[in-house]
Amino acid sequence: MSSRISYDFIIAGMGCAGLSLAMHLINSKVKFEKILILDKELKNINDRTWCFWTKEKNDWYNSIIFNKWDSFIFKSNDFEKKIKLSPYFYCMIKGIDFYSYCIDAIKKDKRFEIVTDSILNIKSENDLGILTCSNQTYQSKFIFNSALRTQQIKSNHINYLQHFKGWLIEAPDYVFDLNNPVFMDFSVEQKNDCRFIYLIPHSKHRALIEYTGFSPNIIDDDEYNHELNNYIKNNLSIKDYRIIETEKGSIPMAESKFINNFGKNVINVGTAGGSSKPSTGFTFYFIQKNCQDIIYQLEKNANKIIAPSRSKKYLFYDSVLLNVINNKKTSPKKIFVDLFKKNLPINLLAFLNEETTFIKDLKIMNSVEKLVFIKSAFKVFFKN
Ligand SMILES: Cc1cc2nc3c(=O)[nH]c(=O)nc-3n(C[C@H](O)[C@H](O)[C@H](O)COP(=O)(O)OP(=O)(O)OC[C@H]3O[C@@H](n4cnc5c(N)ncnc54)[C@H](O)[C@@H]3O)c2cc1C
Repeated sequence: MSSRISYDFIIAGMGCAGLSLAMHLINSKVKFEKILILDKELKNINDRTWCFWTKEKNDWYNSIIFNKWDSFIFKSNDFEKKIKLSPYFYCMIKGIDFYSYCIDAIKKDKRFEIVTDSILNIKSENDLGILTCSNQTYQSKFIFNSALRTQQIKSNHINYLQHFKGWLIEAPDYVFDLNNPVFMDFSVEQKNDCRFIYLIPHSKHRALIEYTGFSPNIIDDDEYNHELNNYIKNNLSIKDYRIIETEKGSIPMAESKFINNFGKNVINVGTAGGSSKPSTGFTFYFIQKNCQDIIYQLEKNANKIIAPSRSKKYLFYDSVLLNVINNKKTSPKKIFVDLFKKNLPINLLAFLNEETTFIKDLKIMNSVEKLVFIKSAFKVFFKN
Protein backbone atom coordinates (compact mmCIF):
# COMPACT_ATOMS: atom_id res chain seq x y z
CA MET A 1 0.00 0.00 0.00
CA SER A 2 1.30 3.47 -0.92
CA SER A 3 1.93 6.13 1.76
CA ARG A 4 -0.88 8.28 3.07
CA ILE A 5 -2.00 11.38 1.18
CA SER A 6 -2.66 14.42 3.41
CA TYR A 7 -5.51 16.91 3.17
CA ASP A 8 -6.73 19.80 5.30
CA PHE A 9 -10.08 18.06 5.67
CA ILE A 10 -11.65 14.87 4.40
CA ILE A 11 -15.38 14.59 3.72
CA ALA A 12 -16.36 10.91 3.77
CA GLY A 13 -19.68 10.46 1.97
CA MET A 14 -21.16 12.62 -0.78
CA GLY A 15 -24.82 12.36 0.19
CA CYS A 16 -26.84 15.14 1.72
CA ALA A 17 -24.50 15.83 4.66
CA GLY A 18 -21.18 15.55 2.82
CA LEU A 19 -22.25 17.70 -0.12
CA SER A 20 -23.99 20.22 2.15
CA LEU A 21 -20.84 20.59 4.21
CA ALA A 22 -18.76 21.07 1.05
CA MET A 23 -21.16 23.82 -0.11
CA HIS A 24 -21.10 25.53 3.28
CA LEU A 25 -17.27 25.38 3.21
CA ILE A 26 -17.08 26.83 -0.31
CA ASN A 27 -19.26 29.75 0.82
CA SER A 28 -17.35 30.30 4.06
CA LYS A 29 -14.26 32.12 5.26
CA VAL A 30 -12.64 28.91 6.49
CA LYS A 31 -9.05 28.73 5.26
CA PHE A 32 -8.08 25.50 3.49
CA GLU A 33 -5.99 24.42 0.53
CA LYS A 34 -6.93 20.80 -0.07
CA ILE A 35 -10.11 18.89 0.73
CA LEU A 36 -10.79 15.31 -0.26
CA ILE A 37 -14.42 14.32 -0.73
CA LEU A 38 -15.23 10.73 -1.48
CA ASP A 39 -18.09 8.32 -2.03
CA LYS A 40 -18.51 4.83 -3.40
CA GLU A 41 -21.23 6.12 -5.75
CA LEU A 42 -21.19 8.72 -8.50
CA LYS A 43 -24.36 10.34 -7.16
CA ASN A 44 -25.97 10.60 -10.58
CA ILE A 45 -29.31 8.95 -9.75
CA ASN A 46 -32.48 10.68 -8.57
CA ASP A 47 -32.87 8.48 -5.51
CA ARG A 48 -34.74 10.85 -3.17
CA THR A 49 -36.73 14.04 -2.74
CA TRP A 50 -36.00 16.42 0.09
CA CYS A 51 -38.71 18.51 1.69
CA PHE A 52 -38.18 20.89 4.57
CA TRP A 53 -39.59 24.14 5.86
CA THR A 54 -37.56 27.22 6.41
CA LYS A 55 -37.95 30.96 6.74
CA GLU A 56 -37.21 33.16 3.74
CA LYS A 57 -33.97 34.40 5.28
CA ASN A 58 -32.33 30.98 4.77
CA ASP A 59 -31.33 31.17 1.14
CA TRP A 60 -30.03 27.60 1.01
CA TYR A 61 -29.97 26.12 -2.50
CA ASN A 62 -32.49 28.68 -3.84
CA SER A 63 -31.62 28.01 -7.47
CA ILE A 64 -32.45 24.30 -7.23
CA ILE A 65 -35.60 24.49 -5.15
CA PHE A 66 -38.07 22.68 -7.40
CA ASN A 67 -41.02 24.30 -5.73
CA LYS A 68 -41.79 26.32 -2.65
CA TRP A 69 -45.22 26.62 -1.00
CA ASP A 70 -46.68 28.97 1.60
CA SER A 71 -49.33 26.44 2.64
CA PHE A 72 -49.91 22.71 2.76
CA ILE A 73 -52.80 20.37 3.49
CA PHE A 74 -53.17 18.19 6.57
CA LYS A 75 -55.89 15.54 6.26
CA SER A 76 -57.57 12.81 8.19
CA ASN A 77 -60.96 11.10 7.76
CA ASP A 78 -62.93 13.72 9.65
CA PHE A 79 -60.58 16.69 9.54
CA GLU A 80 -58.94 18.60 6.74
CA LYS A 81 -57.07 21.86 7.01
CA LYS A 82 -55.12 24.09 4.69
CA ILE A 83 -52.22 25.14 6.88
CA LYS A 84 -50.87 28.63 6.19
CA LEU A 85 -47.16 28.37 6.84
CA SER A 86 -46.05 31.99 7.05
CA PRO A 87 -43.30 32.96 7.90
CA TYR A 88 -42.18 29.49 6.77
CA PHE A 89 -42.06 28.06 3.29
CA TYR A 90 -42.30 24.38 2.53
CA CYS A 91 -39.53 23.65 0.03
CA MET A 92 -38.81 20.67 -2.17
CA ILE A 93 -35.51 19.72 -3.81
CA LYS A 94 -35.01 16.76 -6.13
CA GLY A 95 -32.09 14.55 -5.12
CA ILE A 96 -30.51 14.63 -8.57
CA ASP A 97 -30.68 18.45 -8.75
CA PHE A 98 -28.97 18.68 -5.38
CA TYR A 99 -26.23 16.20 -6.29
CA SER A 100 -25.53 17.86 -9.67
CA TYR A 101 -25.59 21.39 -8.27
CA CYS A 102 -23.18 20.59 -5.43
CA ILE A 103 -20.84 18.40 -7.50
CA ASP A 104 -20.62 21.10 -10.21
CA ALA A 105 -19.68 23.71 -7.60
CA ILE A 106 -17.13 21.35 -6.01
CA LYS A 107 -15.54 20.57 -9.40
CA LYS A 108 -15.16 24.30 -10.08
CA ASP A 109 -13.32 24.83 -6.78
CA LYS A 110 -9.76 23.65 -7.38
CA ARG A 111 -9.20 23.09 -3.66
CA PHE A 112 -11.44 19.99 -3.78
CA GLU A 113 -10.53 16.55 -5.03
CA ILE A 114 -13.33 14.05 -5.67
CA VAL A 115 -12.55 10.34 -5.36
CA THR A 116 -14.96 7.47 -6.11
CA ASP A 117 -14.02 4.53 -3.91
CA SER A 118 -15.38 2.39 -1.12
CA ILE A 119 -14.30 3.38 2.39
CA LEU A 120 -13.08 0.37 4.35
CA ASN A 121 -12.12 1.99 7.62
CA ILE A 122 -11.97 5.31 9.45
CA LYS A 123 -10.05 5.95 12.67
CA SER A 124 -8.15 8.55 14.69
CA GLU A 125 -4.42 8.07 15.28
CA ASN A 126 -1.70 10.47 16.50
CA ASP A 127 -4.10 13.43 16.37
CA LEU A 128 -5.05 12.67 12.76
CA GLY A 129 -8.10 11.17 11.08
CA ILE A 130 -7.10 8.20 8.91
CA LEU A 131 -9.37 6.94 6.14
CA THR A 132 -8.63 3.71 4.30
CA CYS A 133 -10.05 2.74 0.91
CA SER A 134 -9.17 -0.34 -1.12
CA ASN A 135 -6.22 1.27 -2.92
CA GLN A 136 -5.19 4.24 -0.85
CA THR A 137 -5.03 5.65 2.68
CA TYR A 138 -5.71 9.33 3.37
CA GLN A 139 -5.19 11.49 6.42
CA SER A 140 -6.26 14.91 7.69
CA LYS A 141 -6.79 16.77 10.91
CA PHE A 142 -10.54 16.12 10.67
CA ILE A 143 -12.67 13.64 8.77
CA PHE A 144 -16.34 14.58 8.42
CA ASN A 145 -18.04 11.22 8.14
CA SER A 146 -21.55 10.49 6.91
CA ALA A 147 -20.64 7.23 5.15
CA LEU A 148 -20.11 4.79 8.02
CA ARG A 149 -22.88 4.59 10.62
CA THR A 150 -22.71 2.94 14.02
CA GLN A 151 -25.68 2.90 16.32
CA GLN A 152 -25.72 2.02 20.00
CA ILE A 153 -28.69 -0.32 20.26
CA LYS A 154 -29.94 -0.81 23.82
CA SER A 155 -32.57 -3.49 24.41
CA ASN A 156 -34.96 -1.07 26.17
CA HIS A 157 -34.64 1.61 23.48
CA ILE A 158 -37.21 2.08 20.76
CA ASN A 159 -35.86 1.68 17.26
CA TYR A 160 -38.50 2.68 14.78
CA LEU A 161 -38.15 3.49 11.12
CA GLN A 162 -39.94 6.00 9.01
CA HIS A 163 -40.28 3.83 5.93
CA PHE A 164 -41.90 4.72 2.65
CA LYS A 165 -42.36 4.06 -0.99
CA GLY A 166 -43.33 6.77 -3.44
CA TRP A 167 -44.39 6.88 -7.05
CA LEU A 168 -44.05 9.90 -9.25
CA ILE A 169 -47.15 9.39 -11.37
CA GLU A 170 -48.58 11.02 -14.43
CA ALA A 171 -52.37 11.13 -14.60
CA PRO A 172 -53.56 12.77 -17.84
CA ASP A 173 -57.20 13.13 -16.69
CA TYR A 174 -56.51 14.41 -13.17
CA VAL A 175 -55.52 17.91 -12.10
CA PHE A 176 -53.33 18.11 -8.98
CA ASP A 177 -53.58 21.20 -6.78
CA LEU A 178 -50.26 22.84 -7.56
CA ASN A 179 -50.61 25.32 -4.71
CA ASN A 180 -50.96 22.79 -1.95
CA PRO A 181 -48.84 19.72 -1.29
CA VAL A 182 -50.34 17.23 1.16
CA PHE A 183 -48.07 17.07 4.19
CA MET A 184 -49.88 14.13 5.82
CA ASP A 185 -53.08 12.37 4.80
CA PHE A 186 -54.13 10.01 7.57
CA SER A 187 -57.32 8.91 5.82
CA VAL A 188 -55.62 5.62 4.89
CA GLU A 189 -56.18 2.50 7.01
CA GLN A 190 -53.91 2.68 10.05
CA LYS A 191 -53.54 -1.10 10.54
CA ASN A 192 -52.90 -0.60 14.28
CA ASP A 193 -49.85 1.37 13.23
CA CYS A 194 -49.02 4.84 11.93
CA ARG A 195 -49.64 5.16 8.19
CA PHE A 196 -50.13 8.21 6.02
CA ILE A 197 -49.79 9.56 2.51
CA TYR A 198 -47.60 12.39 1.47
CA LEU A 199 -48.30 14.09 -1.86
CA ILE A 200 -46.08 16.56 -3.68
CA PRO A 201 -47.50 18.03 -6.90
CA HIS A 202 -44.90 18.41 -9.65
CA SER A 203 -47.21 19.75 -12.35
CA LYS A 204 -50.93 19.78 -13.18
CA HIS A 205 -50.84 16.10 -14.11
CA ARG A 206 -47.83 14.85 -12.18
CA ALA A 207 -47.31 14.22 -8.46
CA LEU A 208 -45.09 12.27 -6.11
CA ILE A 209 -47.30 10.15 -3.87
CA GLU A 210 -45.63 8.39 -0.95
CA TYR A 211 -47.09 5.76 1.35
CA THR A 212 -45.35 6.17 4.69
CA GLY A 213 -45.29 4.25 7.94
CA PHE A 214 -43.70 4.64 11.37
CA SER A 215 -42.94 1.18 12.73
CA PRO A 216 -40.09 -1.07 13.89
CA ASN A 217 -39.90 -2.82 10.51
CA ILE A 218 -40.44 -1.96 6.90
CA ILE A 219 -43.30 -3.59 5.03
CA ASP A 220 -43.35 -5.78 1.91
CA ASP A 221 -43.05 -4.18 -1.47
CA ASP A 222 -46.39 -5.74 -2.47
CA GLU A 223 -48.10 -3.96 0.42
CA TYR A 224 -46.61 -0.59 -0.55
CA ASN A 225 -47.75 -1.15 -4.16
CA HIS A 226 -51.21 -2.22 -3.08
CA GLU A 227 -51.65 0.77 -0.75
CA LEU A 228 -50.34 3.27 -3.29
CA ASN A 229 -52.59 1.94 -6.02
CA ASN A 230 -55.51 1.86 -3.61
CA TYR A 231 -54.99 5.50 -2.62
CA ILE A 232 -54.60 6.68 -6.20
CA LYS A 233 -57.67 4.79 -7.41
CA ASN A 234 -60.00 5.15 -4.42
CA ASN A 235 -59.00 8.31 -2.54
CA LEU A 236 -58.01 10.40 -5.53
CA SER A 237 -60.36 8.66 -7.99
CA ILE A 238 -57.64 8.54 -10.62
CA LYS A 239 -58.53 5.89 -13.17
CA ASP A 240 -55.60 6.09 -15.49
CA TYR A 241 -52.03 6.77 -14.43
CA ARG A 242 -48.45 5.93 -15.33
CA ILE A 243 -45.55 5.49 -12.89
CA ILE A 244 -42.64 7.68 -13.99
CA GLU A 245 -40.22 7.18 -11.08
CA THR A 246 -40.07 5.22 -7.83
CA GLU A 247 -38.53 6.33 -4.55
CA LYS A 248 -38.13 4.02 -1.61
CA GLY A 249 -36.32 4.28 1.68
CA SER A 250 -36.29 4.34 5.42
CA ILE A 251 -35.03 6.83 7.96
CA PRO A 252 -34.09 5.92 11.53
CA MET A 253 -36.52 7.13 14.20
CA ALA A 254 -34.75 5.80 17.22
CA GLU A 255 -33.97 6.37 20.85
CA SER A 256 -30.71 4.49 20.23
CA LYS A 257 -28.02 7.02 19.52
CA PHE A 258 -25.65 7.11 16.60
CA ILE A 259 -22.20 7.00 18.17
CA ASN A 260 -18.69 7.90 17.16
CA ASN A 261 -16.40 4.87 17.32
CA PHE A 262 -13.79 6.56 15.18
CA GLY A 263 -12.06 8.79 17.72
CA LYS A 264 -11.66 12.52 18.24
CA ASN A 265 -10.44 13.40 14.75
CA VAL A 266 -13.62 12.13 13.15
CA ILE A 267 -16.77 14.24 13.25
CA ASN A 268 -19.91 12.34 12.31
CA VAL A 269 -22.43 14.32 10.29
CA GLY A 270 -25.81 13.63 8.67
CA THR A 271 -27.79 10.62 9.82
CA ALA A 272 -24.52 9.10 11.14
CA GLY A 273 -24.17 12.21 13.31
CA GLY A 274 -27.72 11.98 14.68
CA SER A 275 -29.28 14.58 12.36
CA SER A 276 -32.41 12.53 11.61
CA LYS A 277 -35.08 13.74 14.02
CA PRO A 278 -36.29 10.62 15.82
CA SER A 279 -39.95 11.65 15.98
CA THR A 280 -40.38 12.69 12.34
CA GLY A 281 -37.40 11.47 10.30
CA PHE A 282 -36.84 14.99 8.98
CA THR A 283 -33.10 15.46 8.47
CA PHE A 284 -32.34 17.96 5.71
CA TYR A 285 -32.93 21.05 7.84
CA PHE A 286 -30.86 19.72 10.75
CA ILE A 287 -28.00 18.85 8.40
CA GLN A 288 -27.91 22.48 7.23
CA LYS A 289 -27.99 23.77 10.82
CA ASN A 290 -25.16 21.43 11.80
CA CYS A 291 -23.11 22.56 8.79
CA GLN A 292 -23.59 26.16 9.93
CA ASP A 293 -22.40 25.17 13.40
CA ILE A 294 -19.29 23.40 12.00
CA ILE A 295 -18.44 26.37 9.78
CA TYR A 296 -18.87 28.77 12.70
CA GLN A 297 -16.41 26.71 14.74
CA LEU A 298 -13.90 26.31 11.88
CA GLU A 299 -13.96 30.03 11.10
CA LYS A 300 -12.95 30.68 14.70
CA ASN A 301 -10.32 27.94 14.91
CA ALA A 302 -9.67 25.43 12.14
CA ASN A 303 -7.83 23.13 14.58
CA LYS A 304 -10.60 22.66 17.10
CA ILE A 305 -14.09 21.41 16.58
CA ILE A 306 -16.80 19.85 18.71
CA ALA A 307 -19.28 17.62 16.91
CA PRO A 308 -22.70 19.33 16.77
CA SER A 309 -25.10 17.52 19.06
CA ARG A 310 -28.88 17.40 19.35
CA SER A 311 -30.54 19.40 22.08
CA LYS A 312 -31.25 17.25 25.17
CA LYS A 313 -34.69 18.86 25.48
CA TYR A 314 -35.84 17.79 22.03
CA LEU A 315 -34.20 14.36 22.34
CA PHE A 316 -36.33 13.88 25.44
CA TYR A 317 -39.51 15.03 23.65
CA ASP A 318 -38.73 12.75 20.70
CA SER A 319 -38.25 9.79 23.04
CA VAL A 320 -41.53 10.54 24.77
CA LEU A 321 -43.39 10.61 21.45
CA LEU A 322 -41.72 7.39 20.29
CA ASN A 323 -42.74 5.72 23.56
CA VAL A 324 -46.31 6.97 23.19
CA ILE A 325 -46.47 5.57 19.65
CA ASN A 326 -44.95 2.29 20.79
CA ASN A 327 -47.26 1.91 23.82
CA LYS A 328 -50.31 2.08 21.55
CA LYS A 329 -52.43 3.66 24.31
CA THR A 330 -53.49 6.26 21.78
CA SER A 331 -53.22 6.36 18.01
CA PRO A 332 -50.45 8.33 16.28
CA LYS A 333 -53.15 9.56 13.91
CA LYS A 334 -54.98 11.21 16.84
CA ILE A 335 -51.73 12.78 18.08
CA PHE A 336 -50.99 14.37 14.70
CA VAL A 337 -54.62 15.49 14.23
CA ASP A 338 -54.54 17.12 17.68
CA LEU A 339 -51.23 18.81 16.91
CA PHE A 340 -52.46 20.27 13.62
CA LYS A 341 -55.97 21.09 14.85
CA LYS A 342 -55.06 22.85 18.06
CA ASN A 343 -51.81 24.68 17.38
CA LEU A 344 -50.79 27.71 15.41
CA PRO A 345 -48.79 26.41 12.44
CA ILE A 346 -45.94 28.82 13.17
CA ASN A 347 -45.55 27.30 16.65
CA LEU A 348 -45.84 23.71 15.49
CA LEU A 349 -43.37 24.15 12.63
CA ALA A 350 -40.90 25.93 14.91
CA PHE A 351 -41.33 23.10 17.46
CA LEU A 352 -40.63 20.43 14.83
CA ASN A 353 -37.59 22.43 13.68
CA GLU A 354 -36.46 22.53 17.33
CA GLU A 355 -36.65 26.31 17.61
CA THR A 356 -39.17 26.92 20.40
CA THR A 357 -38.99 28.29 23.91
CA PHE A 358 -40.20 26.15 26.81
CA ILE A 359 -43.37 28.28 27.09
CA LYS A 360 -44.23 27.47 23.46
CA ASP A 361 -43.42 23.80 24.11
CA LEU A 362 -45.97 23.79 26.92
CA LYS A 363 -48.66 25.07 24.54
CA ILE A 364 -47.86 22.25 22.12
CA MET A 365 -47.93 19.70 24.94
CA ASN A 366 -51.30 21.04 26.05
CA SER A 367 -52.77 20.08 22.67
CA VAL A 368 -52.23 16.32 23.04
CA GLU A 369 -53.59 13.69 25.44
CA LYS A 370 -51.66 14.74 28.52
CA LEU A 371 -51.98 11.63 30.67
CA VAL A 372 -50.58 9.32 28.00
CA PHE A 373 -47.66 11.66 27.40
CA ILE A 374 -46.95 12.21 31.11
CA LYS A 375 -46.77 8.43 31.70
CA SER A 376 -44.34 8.08 28.80
CA ALA A 377 -42.30 11.05 30.01
CA PHE A 378 -41.79 9.29 33.36
CA LYS A 379 -40.85 6.09 31.60
CA VAL A 380 -38.28 7.87 29.44
CA PHE A 381 -36.91 9.82 32.39
CA PHE A 382 -36.24 6.68 34.41
CA LYS A 383 -35.04 4.69 31.42
CA ASN A 384 -32.10 7.00 30.67
C1 LIG B 1 -35.79 8.30 -0.15
C2 LIG B 1 -35.52 9.25 1.00
C3 LIG B 1 -36.24 10.45 1.07
C4 LIG B 1 -35.98 11.35 2.12
N1 LIG B 1 -36.69 12.51 2.19
C5 LIG B 1 -36.43 13.39 3.16
C6 LIG B 1 -37.13 14.63 3.23
O1 LIG B 1 -38.04 14.91 2.44
N2 LIG B 1 -36.77 15.52 4.21
C7 LIG B 1 -35.80 15.25 5.11
O2 LIG B 1 -35.51 16.11 5.96
N3 LIG B 1 -35.16 14.08 5.10
C8 LIG B 1 -35.44 13.15 4.15
N4 LIG B 1 -34.76 11.96 4.12
C9 LIG B 1 -33.80 11.68 5.22
C10 LIG B 1 -32.41 12.28 4.99
O3 LIG B 1 -32.51 13.64 4.66
C11 LIG B 1 -31.64 11.56 3.92
O4 LIG B 1 -31.51 10.21 4.23
C12 LIG B 1 -30.26 12.17 3.72
O5 LIG B 1 -29.81 11.72 2.48
C13 LIG B 1 -29.27 11.82 4.83
O6 LIG B 1 -28.03 12.38 4.51
P1 LIG B 1 -26.66 11.66 4.86
O7 LIG B 1 -25.61 12.44 4.20
O8 LIG B 1 -26.58 11.42 6.30
O9 LIG B 1 -26.77 10.22 4.18
P2 LIG B 1 -26.74 9.89 2.64
O10 LIG B 1 -27.37 10.98 1.85
O11 LIG B 1 -27.29 8.53 2.51
O12 LIG B 1 -25.18 9.90 2.28
C14 LIG B 1 -24.29 8.92 2.74
C15 LIG B 1 -23.31 8.67 1.60
O13 LIG B 1 -22.30 7.77 2.05
C16 LIG B 1 -21.97 6.91 0.99
N5 LIG B 1 -21.38 5.71 1.54
C17 LIG B 1 -21.96 4.81 2.38
N6 LIG B 1 -21.08 3.84 2.68
C18 LIG B 1 -19.93 4.12 2.03
C19 LIG B 1 -18.65 3.50 1.93
N7 LIG B 1 -18.39 2.38 2.61
N8 LIG B 1 -17.73 4.07 1.16
C20 LIG B 1 -17.97 5.21 0.48
N9 LIG B 1 -19.16 5.84 0.53
C21 LIG B 1 -20.12 5.31 1.30
C22 LIG B 1 -23.29 6.66 0.27
O14 LIG B 1 -23.07 6.26 -1.07
C23 LIG B 1 -23.94 8.03 0.38
O15 LIG B 1 -23.71 8.83 -0.75
C24 LIG B 1 -35.00 11.04 3.10
C25 LIG B 1 -34.31 9.83 3.02
C26 LIG B 1 -34.56 8.94 1.99
C27 LIG B 1 -33.81 7.64 1.95
